[in-house]
Amino acid sequence: SNDFGIQKSLENLGLLSENKGVSTGADYFASGETIDSYSPTNGSLIAKIQMGSVEDYEKCIAEAKSAFKEFRMIPAPKRGELVRQFGLKLREYKDDLGKLVSYEMGKSLQEGLGEVQEMIDICDFAVGLSRQLHGYTMHSERPGHRMYEQYHPLGIVGVISAFNFPVAVWAWNTALAWICGNVTVWKPSEKVGLCGIACQNIINEVLKENDMPSGISSMIVGNHEVGQKLVDDKNIALVSFTGSTKVGRMVGRNVAERFGKSILELGGNNAIIISKDADIDMTIIGAVFGAVGTAGQRCTSTRRLIIHEDVYDTVVERLKSAYSQLKIGNPLDENNHVGPLIDKDAVSQYLNSIENCKQQGGKFIVEGGVLEGQGFESGCYIKPCIAEVENSYKVVQHETFAPILYVMKYKNLEDAIATQNDVPQGLSSAIMTNNLREAELFLSQAGSDCGIANVNIGTSGAEIGGAFGGEKETGGGRESGSDVWKYYMRRQTNTINYTDSLPLAQGIKFDL
Ligand code: NAD
Repeated sequence: SNDFGIQKSLENLGLLSENKGVSTGADYFASGETIDSYSPTNGSLIAKIQMGSVEDYEKCIAEAKSAFKEFRMIPAPKRGELVRQFGLKLREYKDDLGKLVSYEMGKSLQEGLGEVQEMIDICDFAVGLSRQLHGYTMHSERPGHRMYEQYHPLGIVGVISAFNFPVAVWAWNTALAWICGNVTVWKPSEKVGLCGIACQNIINEVLKENDMPSGISSMIVGNHEVGQKLVDDKNIALVSFTGSTKVGRMVGRNVAERFGKSILELGGNNAIIISKDADIDMTIIGAVFGAVGTAGQRCTSTRRLIIHEDVYDTVVERLKSAYSQLKIGNPLDENNHVGPLIDKDAVSQYLNSIENCKQQGGKFIVEGGVLEGQGFESGCYIKPCIAEVENSYKVVQHETFAPILYVMKYKNLEDAIATQNDVPQGLSSAIMTNNLREAELFLSQAGSDCGIANVNIGTSGAEIGGAFGGEKETGGGRESGSDVWKYYMRRQTNTINYTDSLPLAQGIKFDL
Protein backbone atom coordinates (compact mmCIF):
# COMPACT_ATOMS: atom_id res chain seq x y z
CA SER A 1 0.00 0.00 0.00
CA ASN A 2 1.10 3.57 -0.61
CA ASP A 3 2.62 5.03 2.56
CA PHE A 4 3.28 8.39 0.83
CA GLY A 5 6.96 8.07 1.71
CA ILE A 6 6.23 8.44 5.38
CA GLN A 7 8.64 5.74 6.60
CA LYS A 8 11.49 7.44 4.77
CA SER A 9 10.56 10.78 6.34
CA LEU A 10 10.41 9.29 9.83
CA GLU A 11 13.91 7.94 9.26
CA ASN A 12 15.24 11.22 7.90
CA LEU A 13 13.89 13.01 10.96
CA GLY A 14 15.72 10.59 13.26
CA LEU A 15 12.58 9.04 14.75
CA LEU A 16 12.79 5.51 16.11
CA SER A 17 10.07 2.98 16.83
CA GLU A 18 10.66 3.61 20.53
CA ASN A 19 11.67 7.12 21.51
CA LYS A 20 12.64 8.83 24.73
CA GLY A 21 10.70 12.05 25.06
CA VAL A 22 13.05 14.50 26.80
CA SER A 23 16.11 16.35 25.57
CA THR A 24 18.12 19.36 26.70
CA GLY A 25 20.65 19.06 23.90
CA ALA A 26 22.36 16.10 22.32
CA ASP A 27 20.91 13.23 24.37
CA TYR A 28 17.45 11.94 25.11
CA PHE A 29 16.16 10.54 28.39
CA ALA A 30 12.81 9.87 30.04
CA SER A 31 11.43 8.11 33.09
CA GLY A 32 7.68 8.62 32.70
CA GLU A 33 5.02 6.37 31.23
CA THR A 34 5.13 5.22 27.62
CA ILE A 35 2.47 6.32 25.16
CA ASP A 36 1.67 5.24 21.63
CA SER A 37 1.34 7.73 18.83
CA TYR A 38 -1.29 6.61 16.33
CA SER A 39 -1.91 8.32 13.03
CA PRO A 40 -5.47 9.57 12.68
CA THR A 41 -5.02 9.18 8.92
CA ASN A 42 -5.01 5.36 8.97
CA GLY A 43 -5.09 4.28 12.60
CA SER A 44 -1.55 2.81 12.47
CA LEU A 45 0.84 2.93 15.37
CA ILE A 46 3.60 5.34 14.27
CA ALA A 47 5.93 4.94 17.23
CA LYS A 48 6.15 4.78 21.01
CA ILE A 49 7.31 7.62 23.22
CA GLN A 50 8.41 7.37 26.81
CA MET A 51 7.25 10.63 28.34
CA GLY A 52 9.14 12.85 30.72
CA SER A 53 8.32 12.75 34.43
CA VAL A 54 8.34 15.64 36.88
CA GLU A 55 11.93 14.64 37.83
CA ASP A 56 12.95 14.82 34.18
CA TYR A 57 11.39 18.26 34.07
CA GLU A 58 13.54 19.36 37.00
CA LYS A 59 16.62 18.23 35.11
CA CYS A 60 15.59 20.36 32.13
CA ILE A 61 15.16 23.39 34.37
CA ALA A 62 18.54 22.95 36.05
CA GLU A 63 20.25 22.87 32.63
CA ALA A 64 18.19 25.74 31.31
CA LYS A 65 19.15 27.90 34.28
CA SER A 66 22.82 27.38 33.75
CA ALA A 67 22.56 27.77 29.95
CA PHE A 68 20.78 31.11 30.38
CA LYS A 69 23.78 32.59 32.21
CA GLU A 70 25.91 31.94 29.12
CA PHE A 71 23.32 32.58 26.47
CA ARG A 72 22.32 36.05 27.70
CA MET A 73 25.92 37.24 27.25
CA ILE A 74 26.03 36.30 23.55
CA PRO A 75 25.30 39.45 21.51
CA ALA A 76 21.79 39.51 20.05
CA PRO A 77 22.94 39.49 16.37
CA LYS A 78 25.07 36.40 17.15
CA ARG A 79 22.00 34.75 18.61
CA GLY A 80 20.29 35.82 15.41
CA GLU A 81 22.94 33.89 13.50
CA LEU A 82 21.84 30.71 15.33
CA VAL A 83 18.27 31.43 14.29
CA ARG A 84 19.42 31.97 10.70
CA GLN A 85 21.02 28.51 10.71
CA PHE A 86 17.88 27.08 12.26
CA GLY A 87 15.88 28.52 9.33
CA LEU A 88 18.30 26.90 6.86
CA LYS A 89 17.94 23.51 8.57
CA LEU A 90 14.17 23.84 8.43
CA ARG A 91 14.40 24.39 4.69
CA GLU A 92 16.35 21.12 4.44
CA TYR A 93 13.81 19.22 6.48
CA LYS A 94 10.69 20.96 5.20
CA ASP A 95 9.31 18.03 3.20
CA ASP A 96 9.92 15.45 5.89
CA LEU A 97 8.64 17.56 8.74
CA GLY A 98 5.59 18.73 6.79
CA LYS A 99 4.77 15.13 6.02
CA LEU A 100 5.14 14.09 9.65
CA VAL A 101 2.81 16.93 10.73
CA SER A 102 0.26 15.71 8.23
CA TYR A 103 0.65 12.08 9.30
CA GLU A 104 0.66 12.52 13.08
CA MET A 105 -1.84 15.38 13.35
CA GLY A 106 -4.00 14.71 10.28
CA LYS A 107 -3.98 18.09 8.50
CA SER A 108 -3.47 18.13 4.74
CA LEU A 109 0.07 17.77 3.42
CA GLN A 110 -0.19 21.29 1.96
CA GLU A 111 -1.04 22.65 5.40
CA GLY A 112 1.70 20.58 7.03
CA LEU A 113 4.22 22.08 4.62
CA GLY A 114 2.65 25.50 5.21
CA GLU A 115 3.26 25.11 8.92
CA VAL A 116 6.95 24.44 8.34
CA GLN A 117 7.05 27.44 6.00
CA GLU A 118 5.74 29.56 8.89
CA MET A 119 8.65 28.32 10.99
CA ILE A 120 11.06 29.38 8.25
CA ASP A 121 9.35 32.77 7.93
CA ILE A 122 9.55 33.52 11.65
CA CYS A 123 13.25 32.63 11.60
CA ASP A 124 13.87 35.14 8.81
CA PHE A 125 11.86 37.74 10.71
CA ALA A 126 13.74 37.08 13.95
CA VAL A 127 17.16 37.28 12.29
CA GLY A 128 16.44 40.85 11.19
CA LEU A 129 14.92 41.68 14.53
CA SER A 130 18.07 40.55 16.34
CA ARG A 131 19.62 43.87 15.26
CA GLN A 132 16.54 45.91 16.10
CA LEU A 133 15.70 45.39 19.77
CA HIS A 134 15.28 49.11 20.09
CA GLY A 135 14.36 51.17 23.11
CA TYR A 136 13.62 54.90 23.31
CA THR A 137 15.87 57.63 24.61
CA MET A 138 14.21 60.48 26.48
CA HIS A 139 15.20 63.99 27.49
CA SER A 140 15.71 64.30 31.22
CA GLU A 141 14.15 67.23 33.11
CA ARG A 142 17.34 67.46 35.14
CA PRO A 143 20.44 69.20 33.76
CA GLY A 144 23.39 66.98 32.90
CA HIS A 145 21.27 63.84 32.93
CA ARG A 146 20.54 61.31 30.27
CA MET A 147 17.65 58.85 30.17
CA TYR A 148 17.08 55.83 28.06
CA GLU A 149 15.47 52.44 28.17
CA GLN A 150 16.75 49.05 27.26
CA TYR A 151 15.37 45.55 26.99
CA HIS A 152 16.92 42.59 28.76
CA PRO A 153 16.12 38.90 28.46
CA LEU A 154 13.69 37.36 30.92
CA GLY A 155 15.31 33.99 31.59
CA ILE A 156 13.54 30.72 30.89
CA VAL A 157 10.54 30.87 28.56
CA GLY A 158 8.19 27.91 28.94
CA VAL A 159 6.17 26.97 25.86
CA ILE A 160 3.10 24.75 26.12
CA SER A 161 1.52 24.06 22.76
CA ALA A 162 -1.68 22.55 21.39
CA PHE A 163 -1.99 19.53 19.11
CA ASN A 164 -3.29 21.43 16.09
CA PHE A 165 -0.14 23.42 15.32
CA PRO A 166 2.39 20.86 16.46
CA VAL A 167 5.51 22.60 15.14
CA ALA A 168 4.87 26.26 14.17
CA VAL A 169 3.82 27.58 17.59
CA TRP A 170 7.06 26.33 19.10
CA ALA A 171 9.11 28.03 16.39
CA TRP A 172 7.24 31.34 16.75
CA ASN A 173 8.14 31.33 20.42
CA THR A 174 11.64 29.94 20.20
CA ALA A 175 12.88 32.18 17.39
CA LEU A 176 11.79 35.32 19.27
CA ALA A 177 12.78 34.05 22.71
CA TRP A 178 16.28 33.26 21.47
CA ILE A 179 17.11 36.52 19.78
CA CYS A 180 15.88 38.19 22.97
CA GLY A 181 18.44 36.13 24.92
CA ASN A 182 16.11 33.67 26.63
CA VAL A 183 16.36 29.92 26.76
CA THR A 184 13.26 27.79 26.17
CA VAL A 185 11.64 24.71 27.62
CA TRP A 186 8.90 23.29 25.42
CA LYS A 187 6.11 20.91 26.34
CA PRO A 188 4.39 19.91 23.10
CA SER A 189 0.96 18.32 23.17
CA GLU A 190 1.34 14.64 24.01
CA LYS A 191 -1.02 13.95 21.08
CA VAL A 192 1.74 14.96 18.66
CA GLY A 193 4.89 14.05 20.59
CA LEU A 194 6.77 12.79 17.53
CA CYS A 195 6.55 16.24 15.97
CA GLY A 196 8.16 17.52 19.17
CA ILE A 197 11.02 15.04 18.98
CA ALA A 198 11.57 15.73 15.26
CA CYS A 199 11.83 19.49 15.93
CA GLN A 200 14.18 18.91 18.82
CA ASN A 201 16.42 16.76 16.60
CA ILE A 202 16.65 19.65 14.15
CA ILE A 203 17.46 22.26 16.77
CA ASN A 204 19.96 19.91 18.44
CA GLU A 205 21.87 19.74 15.16
CA VAL A 206 22.11 23.53 15.03
CA LEU A 207 23.24 23.79 18.64
CA LYS A 208 25.81 21.02 18.23
CA GLU A 209 27.28 22.55 15.06
CA ASN A 210 27.76 25.78 17.01
CA ASP A 211 29.19 24.16 20.13
CA MET A 212 26.42 25.56 22.27
CA PRO A 213 25.84 24.24 25.79
CA SER A 214 22.82 22.04 26.49
CA GLY A 215 19.76 23.69 28.01
CA ILE A 216 19.27 26.46 25.45
CA SER A 217 16.33 24.67 23.90
CA SER A 218 14.80 21.78 25.81
CA MET A 219 11.77 19.68 25.00
CA ILE A 220 9.77 17.42 27.23
CA VAL A 221 6.93 15.30 25.96
CA GLY A 222 4.76 15.15 29.03
CA ASN A 223 1.20 15.06 30.24
CA HIS A 224 -0.80 17.72 32.07
CA GLU A 225 1.14 17.10 35.31
CA VAL A 226 4.34 18.25 33.66
CA GLY A 227 2.42 21.17 32.14
CA GLN A 228 1.07 22.10 35.56
CA LYS A 229 4.56 21.89 37.07
CA LEU A 230 5.89 24.29 34.43
CA VAL A 231 3.02 26.71 35.01
CA ASP A 232 3.62 26.82 38.77
CA ASP A 233 7.41 27.01 38.51
CA LYS A 234 8.93 30.32 39.64
CA ASN A 235 11.93 29.57 37.43
CA ILE A 236 9.78 30.10 34.34
CA ALA A 237 9.68 33.85 33.74
CA LEU A 238 7.20 33.65 30.87
CA VAL A 239 4.70 30.93 30.09
CA SER A 240 3.55 30.99 26.50
CA PHE A 241 0.46 28.80 26.47
CA THR A 242 -1.52 27.77 23.40
CA GLY A 243 -4.57 25.62 23.99
CA SER A 244 -8.15 25.55 25.13
CA THR A 245 -9.81 28.31 27.11
CA LYS A 246 -10.59 25.77 29.83
CA VAL A 247 -6.94 24.98 30.52
CA GLY A 248 -5.77 28.51 29.67
CA ARG A 249 -7.99 30.04 32.34
CA MET A 250 -6.21 28.02 34.95
CA VAL A 251 -2.78 28.66 33.45
CA GLY A 252 -3.39 32.43 33.44
CA ARG A 253 -4.57 32.42 37.04
CA ASN A 254 -1.70 30.28 38.35
CA VAL A 255 1.03 32.21 36.54
CA ALA A 256 -0.45 35.52 37.74
CA GLU A 257 -0.55 34.17 41.31
CA ARG A 258 3.25 33.97 41.30
CA PHE A 259 3.60 37.26 39.34
CA GLY A 260 4.97 35.46 36.31
CA LYS A 261 4.25 36.62 32.78
CA SER A 262 2.04 34.73 30.42
CA ILE A 263 1.02 34.81 26.78
CA LEU A 264 -2.35 33.09 26.40
CA GLU A 265 -3.45 31.93 22.95
CA LEU A 266 -6.79 30.24 23.56
CA GLY A 267 -9.94 29.26 21.70
CA GLY A 268 -11.71 31.25 19.02
CA ASN A 269 -15.26 31.50 17.70
CA ASN A 270 -14.64 33.21 14.43
CA ALA A 271 -17.25 34.68 12.13
CA ILE A 272 -17.44 36.06 8.62
CA ILE A 273 -20.01 38.75 7.93
CA ILE A 274 -21.23 38.35 4.35
CA SER A 275 -22.65 41.62 3.07
CA LYS A 276 -25.08 41.98 0.19
CA ASP A 277 -22.14 43.73 -1.51
CA ALA A 278 -19.84 40.73 -1.13
CA ASP A 279 -18.07 39.08 -4.03
CA ILE A 280 -19.87 35.75 -3.64
CA ASP A 281 -17.32 33.61 -5.51
CA MET A 282 -14.52 34.79 -3.24
CA THR A 283 -16.74 34.49 -0.21
CA ILE A 284 -17.52 30.84 -0.83
CA ILE A 285 -13.85 29.90 -1.17
CA GLY A 286 -12.91 31.82 1.99
CA ALA A 287 -15.81 30.46 4.02
CA VAL A 288 -15.46 26.84 2.95
CA PHE A 289 -11.68 26.74 3.39
CA GLY A 290 -12.10 28.48 6.76
CA ALA A 291 -14.73 26.01 7.95
CA VAL A 292 -13.39 22.68 6.66
CA GLY A 293 -9.62 23.27 6.31
CA THR A 294 -7.66 21.33 8.97
CA ALA A 295 -11.05 19.63 9.53
CA GLY A 296 -12.13 22.70 11.49
CA GLN A 297 -9.28 22.30 13.97
CA ARG A 298 -7.68 25.71 13.68
CA CYS A 299 -8.08 28.32 16.36
CA THR A 300 -8.98 30.65 13.45
CA SER A 301 -11.38 28.19 11.74
CA THR A 302 -14.58 29.81 10.53
CA ARG A 303 -17.35 28.77 12.91
CA ARG A 304 -20.11 31.24 12.03
CA LEU A 305 -21.39 32.97 8.91
CA ILE A 306 -23.55 36.04 9.45
CA ILE A 307 -25.22 36.57 6.09
CA HIS A 308 -27.24 39.50 4.78
CA GLU A 309 -30.85 38.48 4.15
CA ASP A 310 -30.72 39.56 0.48
CA VAL A 311 -27.94 37.08 -0.34
CA TYR A 312 -28.74 34.46 2.30
CA ASP A 313 -30.44 31.95 -0.01
CA THR A 314 -27.80 32.30 -2.70
CA VAL A 315 -24.95 31.82 -0.23
CA VAL A 316 -26.63 28.82 1.38
CA GLU A 317 -27.23 27.17 -2.01
CA ARG A 318 -23.62 27.79 -3.04
CA LEU A 319 -22.37 26.37 0.28
CA LYS A 320 -24.46 23.23 -0.13
CA SER A 321 -23.11 22.72 -3.59
CA ALA A 322 -19.50 23.31 -2.45
CA TYR A 323 -19.91 20.89 0.47
CA SER A 324 -21.30 18.21 -1.85
CA GLN A 325 -18.03 18.37 -3.80
CA LEU A 326 -15.70 18.05 -0.81
CA LYS A 327 -13.39 15.07 -0.95
CA ILE A 328 -12.79 13.57 2.46
CA GLY A 329 -9.90 11.18 2.94
CA ASN A 330 -6.22 10.67 3.64
CA PRO A 331 -4.69 14.14 4.05
CA LEU A 332 -1.41 12.97 2.51
CA ASP A 333 -3.30 12.51 -0.75
CA GLU A 334 -3.40 15.96 -2.31
CA ASN A 335 -6.71 15.25 -4.04
CA ASN A 336 -8.52 15.37 -0.70
CA HIS A 337 -9.87 18.56 0.88
CA VAL A 338 -10.68 17.27 4.36
CA GLY A 339 -8.71 14.91 6.59
CA PRO A 340 -9.55 13.31 9.91
CA LEU A 341 -10.06 14.74 13.38
CA ILE A 342 -7.16 14.21 15.79
CA ASP A 343 -8.70 11.27 17.69
CA LYS A 344 -11.91 9.50 18.67
CA ASP A 345 -12.48 11.84 21.63
CA ALA A 346 -12.66 14.69 19.16
CA VAL A 347 -15.16 12.67 17.12
CA SER A 348 -17.39 12.25 20.21
CA GLN A 349 -17.22 15.97 20.91
CA TYR A 350 -18.22 16.68 17.32
CA LEU A 351 -21.18 14.28 17.61
CA ASN A 352 -22.20 15.80 20.97
CA SER A 353 -22.22 19.29 19.52
CA ILE A 354 -24.38 18.17 16.60
CA GLU A 355 -26.82 16.57 19.04
CA ASN A 356 -26.84 19.66 21.28
CA CYS A 357 -27.35 21.90 18.29
CA LYS A 358 -30.40 19.91 17.22
CA GLN A 359 -31.81 19.99 20.75
CA GLN A 360 -31.32 23.73 20.98
CA GLY A 361 -33.27 24.27 17.75
CA GLY A 362 -30.59 24.11 15.04
CA LYS A 363 -31.64 22.93 11.59
CA PHE A 364 -28.99 21.07 9.62
CA ILE A 365 -28.85 22.01 5.97
CA VAL A 366 -25.81 19.82 5.40
CA GLU A 367 -25.84 16.75 7.64
CA GLY A 368 -22.80 15.51 9.57
CA GLY A 369 -21.82 12.00 10.57
CA VAL A 370 -18.92 9.62 11.00
CA LEU A 371 -17.49 7.93 7.92
CA GLU A 372 -16.90 4.19 7.83
CA GLY A 373 -15.42 1.69 5.43
CA GLN A 374 -12.32 1.59 3.30
CA GLY A 375 -9.93 4.46 3.91
CA PHE A 376 -11.75 5.48 7.09
CA GLU A 377 -10.49 2.68 9.37
CA SER A 378 -9.06 5.10 11.95
CA GLY A 379 -12.61 6.10 12.93
CA CYS A 380 -11.58 9.77 12.89
CA TYR A 381 -13.09 10.85 9.56
CA ILE A 382 -16.29 12.86 9.79
CA LYS A 383 -18.47 14.90 7.45
CA PRO A 384 -18.28 18.69 7.58
CA CYS A 385 -21.79 20.00 8.24
CA ILE A 386 -23.80 23.22 8.30
CA ALA A 387 -26.64 24.25 10.61
CA GLU A 388 -28.99 27.22 10.66
CA VAL A 389 -28.97 28.58 14.21
CA GLU A 390 -29.46 31.56 16.51
CA ASN A 391 -26.24 33.11 17.77
CA SER A 392 -27.50 32.79 21.35
CA TYR A 393 -27.58 28.97 21.37
CA LYS A 394 -25.22 27.59 23.98
CA VAL A 395 -23.58 25.33 21.40
CA VAL A 396 -22.91 28.30 19.10
CA GLN A 397 -21.33 30.29 21.92
CA HIS A 398 -18.90 27.43 22.54
CA GLU A 399 -15.92 26.44 20.36
CA THR A 400 -16.30 22.91 19.01
CA PHE A 401 -13.00 21.90 17.46
CA ALA A 402 -14.53 20.30 14.35
CA PRO A 403 -16.00 21.37 10.98
CA ILE A 404 -19.48 22.42 12.11
CA LEU A 405 -20.46 25.68 10.45
CA TYR A 406 -23.29 27.80 11.86
CA VAL A 407 -25.19 30.15 9.57
CA MET A 408 -27.51 33.02 10.49
CA LYS A 409 -29.22 35.98 8.82
CA TYR A 410 -28.93 39.75 9.36
CA LYS A 411 -30.70 42.89 8.14
CA ASN A 412 -28.36 45.75 9.06
CA LEU A 413 -24.62 45.84 9.58
CA GLU A 414 -24.67 47.24 13.12
CA ASP A 415 -26.68 44.19 14.18
CA ALA A 416 -24.36 41.87 12.30
CA ILE A 417 -21.34 43.38 14.06
CA ALA A 418 -23.10 43.06 17.43
CA THR A 419 -23.81 39.40 16.67
CA GLN A 420 -20.25 38.78 15.57
CA ASN A 421 -18.99 40.26 18.86
CA ASP A 422 -21.59 38.54 21.01
CA VAL A 423 -19.54 35.45 21.91
CA PRO A 424 -17.08 34.96 24.78
CA GLN A 425 -14.08 34.59 22.44
CA GLY A 426 -12.34 37.29 20.37
CA LEU A 427 -9.76 35.83 18.01
CA SER A 428 -10.42 36.28 14.29
CA SER A 429 -13.15 37.96 12.26
CA ALA A 430 -13.84 39.05 8.71
CA ILE A 431 -16.21 40.96 6.51
CA MET A 432 -16.76 40.22 2.84
CA THR A 433 -17.88 43.42 1.16
CA ASN A 434 -17.00 45.73 -1.70
CA ASN A 435 -18.57 48.63 0.17
CA LEU A 436 -15.96 50.94 1.69
CA ARG A 437 -18.29 52.29 4.37
CA GLU A 438 -19.11 48.81 5.58
CA ALA A 439 -15.48 47.74 5.61
CA GLU A 440 -14.37 50.80 7.57
CA LEU A 441 -17.17 50.51 10.10
CA PHE A 442 -16.22 46.88 10.66
CA LEU A 443 -12.59 47.89 11.31
CA SER A 444 -13.45 50.90 13.48
CA GLN A 445 -13.60 51.05 17.26
CA ALA A 446 -17.32 50.36 16.91
CA GLY A 447 -16.57 47.31 14.77
CA SER A 448 -15.05 43.90 15.41
CA ASP A 449 -13.74 43.33 18.94
CA CYS A 450 -11.29 40.63 17.82
CA GLY A 451 -7.49 40.56 17.74
CA ILE A 452 -7.68 39.91 14.00
CA ALA A 453 -10.15 41.66 11.67
CA ASN A 454 -9.96 41.08 7.92
CA VAL A 455 -11.64 42.52 4.86
CA ASN A 456 -12.26 40.28 1.87
CA ILE A 457 -10.30 37.36 3.22
CA GLY A 458 -11.57 34.68 5.58
CA THR A 459 -10.82 34.23 9.28
CA SER A 460 -8.48 31.30 8.91
CA GLY A 461 -4.72 31.60 8.99
CA ALA A 462 -2.40 34.58 9.30
CA GLU A 463 1.00 35.80 8.24
CA ILE A 464 3.87 35.83 10.72
CA GLY A 465 4.57 39.56 10.21
CA GLY A 466 1.57 40.66 12.25
CA ALA A 467 0.89 40.21 15.95
CA PHE A 468 -1.22 37.08 16.32
CA GLY A 469 -3.78 36.58 19.08
CA GLY A 470 -7.16 37.57 20.39
CA GLU A 471 -9.21 39.28 23.06
CA LYS A 472 -11.65 38.19 25.78
CA GLU A 473 -11.59 34.44 26.42
CA THR A 474 -9.00 34.02 23.68
CA GLY A 475 -6.65 35.26 26.38
CA GLY A 476 -5.27 38.60 25.19
CA GLY A 477 -1.84 37.25 24.22
CA ARG A 478 0.07 38.12 21.06
CA GLU A 479 2.69 36.03 19.33
CA SER A 480 4.86 36.23 16.23
CA GLY A 481 5.43 39.53 14.36
CA SER A 482 5.13 43.31 14.88
CA ASP A 483 6.59 44.33 18.27
CA VAL A 484 5.57 41.13 20.04
CA TRP A 485 9.23 40.53 20.93
CA LYS A 486 8.73 42.96 23.81
CA TYR A 487 6.71 40.30 25.65
CA TYR A 488 9.87 38.20 25.76
CA MET A 489 12.01 40.86 27.43
CA ARG A 490 12.00 42.99 30.56
CA ARG A 491 12.13 46.72 30.15
CA GLN A 492 14.56 48.81 32.13
CA THR A 493 14.66 52.60 32.39
CA ASN A 494 18.12 54.04 33.01
CA THR A 495 18.98 57.55 34.18
CA ILE A 496 22.59 58.69 34.24
CA ASN A 497 23.87 61.84 35.95
CA TYR A 498 27.11 63.19 34.46
CA THR A 499 27.40 66.30 36.69
CA ASP A 500 28.86 66.83 40.18
CA SER A 501 25.55 67.75 41.82
CA LEU A 502 22.47 65.72 42.63
CA PRO A 503 19.31 67.54 41.56
CA LEU A 504 16.18 65.59 42.46
CA ALA A 505 13.31 65.03 40.09
CA GLN A 506 10.28 67.36 40.26
CA GLY A 507 12.57 70.06 41.76
CA ILE A 508 12.41 68.54 45.23
CA LYS A 509 14.90 70.11 47.67
CA PHE A 510 16.77 67.97 50.17
CA ASP A 511 19.73 69.84 51.62
CA LEU A 512 21.98 68.27 54.20
P1 NAD B 1 -5.59 21.69 25.38
O1 NAD B 1 -5.91 22.88 26.21
O2 NAD B 1 -6.28 20.41 25.67
O3 NAD B 1 -4.03 21.35 25.49
C1 NAD B 1 -3.04 22.32 25.20
C2 NAD B 1 -1.74 21.98 25.92
O4 NAD B 1 -1.94 22.15 27.32
C3 NAD B 1 -1.26 20.55 25.73
O5 NAD B 1 0.14 20.56 25.59
C4 NAD B 1 -1.66 19.89 27.02
O6 NAD B 1 -0.87 18.78 27.37
C5 NAD B 1 -1.46 21.01 28.01
N1 NAD B 1 -2.19 20.89 29.28
C6 NAD B 1 -3.33 20.19 29.54
N2 NAD B 1 -3.69 20.35 30.82
C7 NAD B 1 -2.77 21.15 31.39
C8 NAD B 1 -2.61 21.70 32.69
N3 NAD B 1 -3.47 21.40 33.68
N4 NAD B 1 -1.56 22.53 32.92
C9 NAD B 1 -0.70 22.84 31.92
N5 NAD B 1 -0.80 22.35 30.67
C10 NAD B 1 -1.83 21.52 30.40
O7 NAD B 1 -5.78 22.13 23.85
P2 NAD B 1 -5.69 21.24 22.52
O8 NAD B 1 -6.89 20.35 22.44
O9 NAD B 1 -4.35 20.64 22.38
O10 NAD B 1 -5.80 22.38 21.42
C11 NAD B 1 -6.98 22.92 20.92
C12 NAD B 1 -7.28 24.27 21.53
O11 NAD B 1 -6.18 25.16 21.34
C13 NAD B 1 -8.45 24.96 20.87
O12 NAD B 1 -9.24 25.58 21.84
C14 NAD B 1 -7.80 26.01 19.98
O13 NAD B 1 -8.61 27.11 19.66
C15 NAD B 1 -6.64 26.41 20.82
N6 NAD B 1 -5.61 27.03 19.99
C16 NAD B 1 -5.45 28.38 20.08
C17 NAD B 1 -4.51 29.03 19.28
C18 NAD B 1 -4.32 30.50 19.35
O14 NAD B 1 -3.31 30.96 18.85
N7 NAD B 1 -5.23 31.26 19.89
C19 NAD B 1 -3.72 28.28 18.40
C20 NAD B 1 -3.90 26.89 18.35
C21 NAD B 1 -4.85 26.29 19.16
